[in-house]
Amino acid sequence: MIRASLRSHLTLWFAGLSLFTLLSVGFYVGHIATEQMKLASGNALLNTARSAAVLLASQFSERQLEVSQLTRSPLFRRGNLDDPDILTTMDLRTQSRAEYAWMGVADVNGQVRQAAKGLLVNQSVKARPWFQAGLQGNYSGDPHEAVLLAKLLPGASNGEPLRFIDFAAPIRTADGQVVGVLGAHAHWSWVTQIVESAVMEKGLAPGVEALIVDAGGKVLYPEQLAGQTVANLTAAQTRPGWSLGEDDYLTSAVAVPTPPNSGLAWYIVVRQPLDIALEPARILFYNLLVLGVIAAVGFGLVAYYLALSMSRPIEQLARSAKLVQDQQPGAQFPQEHAVLEIAQLGRSISGMTESLLGKERELQEANASLEATVALRTAALTQANAELLQLATHDALTGVYNRRRLDEKLAECSQLFQRTGRPFGMLLIDADHFKRVNDSYGHAVGDEVLQRLAALIQGNIRSTDFLARYGGEEFAVLLPEVEAAQSPAVIAEKIRAAVAGAIFATVGQVTVSIGVGVTEPGDGDSMALIRRADQQLYQAKSLGRNKVA
Ligand code: GH3
Ligand code: MG
Ligand code: MG
Repeated sequence: MIRASLRSHLTLWFAGLSLFTLLSVGFYVGHIATEQMKLASGNALLNTARSAAVLLASQFSERQLEVSQLTRSPLFRRGNLDDPDILTTMDLRTQSRAEYAWMGVADVNGQVRQAAKGLLVNQSVKARPWFQAGLQGNYSGDPHEAVLLAKLLPGASNGEPLRFIDFAAPIRTADGQVVGVLGAHAHWSWVTQIVESAVMEKGLAPGVEALIVDAGGKVLYPEQLAGQTVANLTAAQTRPGWSLGEDDYLTSAVAVPTPPNSGLAWYIVVRQPLDIALEPARILFYNLLVLGVIAAVGFGLVAYYLALSMSRPIEQLARSAKLVQDQQPGAQFPQEHAVLEIAQLGRSISGMTESLLGKERELQEANASLEATVALRTAALTQANAELLQLATHDALTGVYNRRRLDEKLAECSQLFQRTGRPFGMLLIDADHFKRVNDSYGHAVGDEVLQRLAALIQGNIRSTDFLARYGGEEFAVLLPEVEAAQSPAVIAEKIRAAVAGAIFATVGQVTVSIGVGVTEPGDGDSMALIRRADQQLYQAKSLGRNKVA
């Protein structure tokens, strides 16, 4: 299979088909025209030959009749060959008809007794065919060169030898006895002129020539072809326009109808060179060939442009579809076209592509918004987790650790203490008369005070210390590092003094009581420590509040 573009296919097929069609028509028409031309030319040639033959035959029989009628005139029937009236008659005849070269009477012995212009008088013609035949009856004979006469007559202008056609008739007396022969020689040129004039009359087609041929096919006229043979005369008679093949002539032949007892058997052959006769057919054929090539080129061009207009949108479709396949931008589909299917295809693919791209865009957008939502939710979740963690371990009001976290931390510290024996301390801090704050200023102010308290405590402990809201208006501080036995009490005093020295908004001064506890080697768990710190707090309260115990 040849892989080529649509336009190459269409162009080649169109040009090839039109070339093939026109060439076929050209060859066919050329062939028919050649045959017609042969027939027409052959018929024309045949007509020419026929009219020449008819003319020649009528001229012939006239001359023959003239000679035979002369012999039957009373003058001749008297039987006196030396009668001067015979000479007068013959002179008159030869003068009136230029074709007669000679006319004379010979006695039964062949001696010429009288002749026009006195030519050949007393000479013997006994051996001549015309004389021998003339003794028996009317005679007309083949052209021959007259040896005797030629010497006496002026030569032909074209230098051809003088030739004559003989006519003869027996001279009989009234009782039927043959006393001599009347002979007449007509110039051969007379015959050829008859033929030529007949051919001329028909109007000469180019290259046409007329031939006089004897029964054996030998050319008698024209002189330059004399001695050549025309083959297959019968075919030329039966098939007008017969082509002889080897000599490349269109030939037609007609037998000259001659009097029954004449020795003449002639044919008029009219022929025309084949290439001249068939020239119009050849020109027609070449014209058709040229037309065929021009038409092929024309058709090819038309097909090319037609194909261009059809293949361009298809090529564009293919290109654009490839772009879409490769997910490249710039795909453009033709929407309008004279061919409905192409336009429909363009619109459909365009529509399909658009909906495809639209779906893809929607998908991408949905994906993006989904990712954003997920990120948002993840952040919210993280935040919530952090808040949850904060809530789980911190006190909501004051932000310090809550009781749950304190218990865990206490357990850790306690375990560490059990393992290492390193002591840790605990402060229990309780706001003094806090019920009164609430009662005097409201619960909200009480909350603010608690927050401020937490901040004050946080500000007076180390970062390694652990502050938690123990419950209500009580705070606990774990002191993991206890360098000296009295250092928890120092820290507690520092806190108490800081609180006592601070001015609280709305409320003014707030004090705290702090119970200090430190682990002792015998402590089984953290409970002992808590109890100890609690007792100390109770002690501080008992001492009058705003105290460290
Ligand atoms: P004392 O000096 O003996 O400790 O007297 P007090 O009034 O502080 O002790 P009491 O136990 O009688 O009262 C504690 C008060 O603390 C009662 C309660 O209303 C208040 N309180 C506990 N938790 C909160 C809280 O979260 N916010 C507020 N505003 N008040 C609280
Ligand atoms: Mg209390
Ligand atoms: Mg209190």
